Amino acid sequence: MAGHSVDEYLETIYFLAFPIGEYRPTTTGTPTLSARVAEMLGVSRASAGEMLKRLERDGLVERGEHKEAILTATGRERAERAVRKHRIIERLLTDFMGYTAAEAHVHADELGDTFTDDMVERIAARLGHPDRCPHGWPVDTDVEQAENRELEPLSALRAGTGATIVRLAEHDGELLHWFYDEGLVPGTAIELTAAEPAAGQFRVRVDGGEKAIGEKAAAGLFVRPA
Ligand SMILES: [Zn+2]
Repeated sequence: MAGHSVDEYLETIYFLAFPIGEYRPTTTGTPTLSARVAEMLGVSRASAGEMLKRLERDGLVERGEHKEAILTATGRERAERAVRKHRIIERLLTDFMGYTAAEAHVHADELGDTFTDDMVERIAARLGHPDRCPHGWPVDTDVEQAENRELEPLSALRAGTGATIVRLAEHDGELLHWFYDEGLVPGTAIELTAAEPAAGQFRVRVDGGEKAIGEKAAAGLFVRPA
């Protein structure tokens, strides 16, 4: 399997540093950061641990009070740049190259290291400076971090609550395709009609119909409660 780049690791750590929904670090059982990162990138704990050591040596990551990895100022700046780049390249893929939103995420990962910062700025300008990636994530990371406080994963809502889908979790490609197949896309109004988190079962009303969705899907839909 091809290794992941420094930027892909920084992006992953970024999601854990500015968490929302499923990206929130688990507090029980204290899994180490390398375990979390390994799980999100689909690599072994050993490879993740090795890369984290390298990021530490390079001054991008430092160890906190509880040995947790924290982005340094340099690391955070680079992670934010990588995240922004990913979102602009996704828009290049959908708006210019005609890929579907569901396809864009994986291709953007593959292209991540292809474009220089200057190229990314030129692409953003040609696309008219898009605000969000096709999956609803703000291109401006300050906007994203502020907005995190206004959103909830659908799985955290009480039954009977109406909401608008704002962002989709994108690191699980199969789930991302499923969201689009089911019409669960940014901008869609939904209502949570039944929630049984213990059983991992949720029901939502969308477009006049009702459908059952699993826990993983409910945790990956980031919504603005009405
Ligand atoms: Zn995206």
